[in-house]
Amino acid sequence: MLTTKTKAANTFEIAQAQFDRVADMLDLEQGARELLRSPLREFSFAIPTKMDDGSVRVFRGFRVQHNDARGPCKGGLRFHPMETLDTVRALAVWMTWKCAVVDIPLGGGKGGVICDPHGLSAGEQERICRGFVRQMARHMGPEIDVPAPDVMTSAQHMLWMLDEFETIHGRRAPGFITGKPVGVGGSKGRTEATGFGVMYTVREAMADLGLDIAKTSASFQGFGNVSQYAVRAYAQMGGTPVCVSCWDQREQTTFAFYRKQGIDIDQLMPITDRFGGIDRAAAEKMGYEVLPGDAWLDRDVDILVPAALEGQITEDNVLRISDRVRLIAEGANGPTTPEADRLIHERGIALIPDVLANAGGVTCSYFEQVQGNTNYYWERDEVLGKLDSKMTSAYRAVSELVRSRGLYARDAAYMIAIDRVVRACRDRGWI
Ligand code: NAD
Repeated sequence: MLTTKTKAANTFEIAQAQFDRVADMLDLEQGARELLRSPLREFSFAIPTKMDDGSVRVFRGFRVQHNDARGPCKGGLRFHPMETLDTVRALAVWMTWKCAVVDIPLGGGKGGVICDPHGLSAGEQERICRGFVRQMARHMGPEIDVPAPDVMTSAQHMLWMLDEFETIHGRRAPGFITGKPVGVGGSKGRTEATGFGVMYTVREAMADLGLDIAKTSASFQGFGNVSQYAVRAYAQMGGTPVCVSCWDQREQTTFAFYRKQGIDIDQLMPITDRFGGIDRAAAEKMGYEVLPGDAWLDRDVDILVPAALEGQITEDNVLRISDRVRLIAEGANGPTTPEADRLIHERGIALIPDVLANAGGVTCSYFEQVQGNTNYYWERDEVLGKLDSKMTSAYRAVSELVRSRGLYARDAAYMIAIDRVVRACRDRGWI
């Protein structure tokens, strides 16, 4: 489906290189390094699935549990035709740091199924979800490892998985999964939490940079769950979003949708499918300029928000970023390679790293767990208010370290997170 993933960016090697760099800065001992640079447990399995036409297709599923010293593993489950075990490993590692940086009592895990839901009926997707849980039901659960939605999975997928888990175990277990629909154990605000969380941190960064958000413009990669709500929150804060991009399933390529005076999210939503794909012809009729997919990166804007997939800002394209850009806020996981990091740092562009910027999703999942455990559900404003204060204090802790030690923001976030995880491992007597 995607053309932008290349061998040059092995995501797990990137996650390990990021860790090694900060392990050196923290002068971590060998045992801690060995434990934390690889996952605790990994599962790779077949999901035989009856298709609507009566045939059987065998899909491959993965679940990786990186570390659970601070609490049960937590992390999304994605459906993607180019999913790999290495990508899932990297995403599980990043989940451990993410939960630690926002200081919630959870570890890191991630899962995926190699499949393209564009070409699967709802019934076929339901059977994949149930097949995944049948393979993993003994190795997951509220006190072990808790999944959530991610790329191309939604609240509906979570509910099918929950139903299968509860059927296998013969009891209700709402804590098995988060991102459930509101009314069936889900939390208000969860759908918008990741994108809104990105913008809570952008708001703080703008204040640090001495910029008035209402006078800024921004360009976004992706137009799925994270990007849509980030665009909405940014526009509500007074900013001008000028570009979004997405994968076009029919043309099998990516396009960027640009309008200098600002894009209108309410105009774009009705012409966007459930996978975050925008109808190109309809957008052109509305006056959007339709450009090659990578044009989101070289827009003349103040803020860039990669919110699609990993490995998107590389040493090959980082120099195309306009001199006007002051901030990159990573809505996606792992969008920037270490070589690009070096050049971004050198150019003095501020960065809000993924483990901080997109932590709103898992933070709200944690709130969903808290509400489920007490069986008392909060109003949306209460959820988003608590989310804002958690994201803001995590941002402040990282930016303080950036300022006081002159660090690159990714290193600062990792130092906070790795230190917390190492302490938990030490306190448990693992290392
Ligand atoms: P999604 O499936 O809802 O949307 C993905 C979007 O990216 C779609 O608009 C798709 O068309 C677009 N896209 C795919 N490939 C592209 C490419 N090469 N160029 C441009 N656009 C492309 O996914 P999502 O839930 O919004 O997740 C996006 C990113 O955010 C992922 O890295 C995910 O791991 C991360 N993330 C998601 C959550 C969450 O709560 N959903 C939480 C934290 C992090």
